[in-house]
Amino acid sequence: MPAMRVLVVSDIHANLTALTAVLQDAGTFDAAWCLGDLVGYGPDPNECIDRIRQLPSLTCLIGNHDMAALGSIPLHRFNADASSSVAWTRDHLTEDSRAYLAGLKAKLIMPPFTLAHGSPRQEVWEYVLDHHGADRNFDILETDYCLIGHSHLPIGFVRFPGESYCLPVQLPENVALSLTPRMILNPGSVGQPRDLDPRASYALLDTQTLTWEPRRVAYAITDVQQRILTAGLPERQAIRLLGGW
Ligand code: ZN
Repeated sequence: MPAMRVLVVSDIHANLTALTAVLQDAGTFDAAWCLGDLVGYGPDPNECIDRIRQLPSLTCLIGNHDMAALGSIPLHRFNADASSSVAWTRDHLTEDSRAYLAGLKAKLIMPPFTLAHGSPRQEVWEYVLDHHGADRNFDILETDYCLIGHSHLPIGFVRFPGESYCLPVQLPENVALSLTPRMILNPGSVGQPRDLDPRASYALLDTQTLTWEPRRVAYAITDVQQRILTAGLPERQAIRLLGGW
């Protein structure tokens, strides 16, 4: 793998204002890895897909909301608000956007990294929220490092060589963490953070020095809230952006 600075984003959820703020904040990068859920919840699905597709050396995964928007996951797998957002997204996706999403995979192995939307064990559905979930995935992980999304939480776990259990990794903002085998890392969510910090969350990965830098950036949440309400999407999706849940 060539050495490079990689923008790692996940769970954009059709929030173009948050995505634009992340791209401005990130500065220059050589490649972008997107871990899925480009659409769902937010008002800008096609705009987000178009913007992501323009990024340099893009590797992009599909998430559960993207699959649902294509009709490949039934609505009853989602709660009431999420499913009405999925239905709205189905109605608004362009043919071009649908064709793009339909060509994506939910998991890719690019040694020394595994990329998955949910987890290496269950590519689309598993939420890795604690060390129990992380350990189940370390047990089957084929590479030193694994990058995941789906939980909307910027968290990480490390399992040292020879150990059968992992520990949580502290991930202070703007501090480059040195990667050590083996780690599972989540950049958090661009478009709908759920750690009670409403700022967009992402990470910068340096594949030469092997560091992971968690980043947060504020954006104009009220603009997105207005578009959510104007679009007729559930009001709850607007409210939660401000609280970061
Ligand atoms: Zn998501």
